[in-house]
Amino acid sequence: MDINEQSYAYGASKSTIREIAAYGAARKAEIGADKVFDFSLGNPSVPAPEEVRLSIEKALTLPAVQLHGYTPAAGLPIVRDTLAKSLNRRYGTNYSANDLYITCGAAAALTISFHTLYNPGDEVIVIAPYFPEYKVFIEATGAHCVEVLADQKTFQIDVEAVENAITSKTKAVVINSPNNPVGSVYSEQNLKDLAEVLTNADHNICLVTDEPYREIVYGAKVPWVPSIYPNTMVTYSYSKSLSLPGERIGWVLVPDTNPFHDKLIPAVAGAGRSLGFVCAPALFQRVIADCCDVPSNIEAYAKNRKALTEGLSKLGYSFIEPQGAFYLWVKSLEPDANAFFEKAKQFELLPVPSDSFGCKGWVRVGYCVNYEIIGNSMPAWEKLAEQY
Ligand code: PLP
Repeated sequence: MDINEQSYAYGASKSTIREIAAYGAARKAEIGADKVFDFSLGNPSVPAPEEVRLSIEKALTLPAVQLHGYTPAAGLPIVRDTLAKSLNRRYGTNYSANDLYITCGAAAALTISFHTLYNPGDEVIVIAPYFPEYKVFIEATGAHCVEVLADQKTFQIDVEAVENAITSKTKAVVINSPNNPVGSVYSEQNLKDLAEVLTNADHNICLVTDEPYREIVYGAKVPWVPSIYPNTMVTYSYSKSLSLPGERIGWVLVPDTNPFHDKLIPAVAGAGRSLGFVCAPALFQRVIADCCDVPSNIEAYAKNRKALTEGLSKLGYSFIEPQGAFYLWVKSLEPDANAFFEKAKQFELLPVPSDSFGCKGWVRVGYCVNYEIIGNSMPAWEKLAEQY
């Protein structure tokens, strides 16, 4: 039978991160959970805040038909209004419920944005290393994913390289700050330089800014991108900030200041409709309205970050000091990160080799794990370093 070969290929090839996580789970079952140091998945180890539980309990008192019923496709107006007001308080903006479309996490928010913007043959620039699903989501629209390496010293956007990659087919640039996998946060100046290049291009180029880690920073300021470049769409989720990845809840924002706002809003609704991404989980729409201003528990990640960076630096590893998110970008001890990963595996260490992020010679170490795992893993990191 003829089926969609592209979908077959995506399903058959699987995500490297998920394959490593599955290997980790199997290995834990085999030799014991405490003997495997799985740093692969970005699954928050911090529990969801107490306010989430209280909000769920409150929602459970609603009549079942209301609690479990369909909501409007874009989400409950009262929820979108609450989220818009929260953004306005933080960023001095003037957004309204109409500018937001609630989604099943950042993945759906990105997919909706991409289907809103791209036509087959368009080119979309991503800054490598990048979250590997971008490529899948971009290609599903028929557009091409164009990888542009970040500055390899600072891991800020290499604006000149972006400028050189722009062609008449470039439809958008996708950025992610705080960044998965590097933990970098793009500075205001870096974003202003990018904005200048995009503004000077001879056609309109949209900036899609993917921000699930916005709240997870260690002192760094995360600039509000739509205030720097008007033709921006923002994607967000509560997977990391409220530790709710399994609940699938986030949003797409088309700022009222976007010059194409009035065309983009119905297109977002149309993309959601055509993809079947309508009325995101009703219970968790209510929860995010109640909890959108609850601070993330950064302390736990900051503690992990300190233990990991101090431990690895004592052992002679080099890495990029993360300013946000919960990943450490560690230099592989040999040019081939896959070969390095295979050696790490022998000591039950499971980072993710950088190739799947569009970059060679590094591994990503996710430190959203229980604190003890970091300390317990140090002898294994030491044995790994001794191999070189
Ligand atoms: N974007 C980035 C940069 C991510 O790291 C992730 C998940 O790890 C996502 C998007 C997808 O997030 P969600 O779980 O909200 O779909």
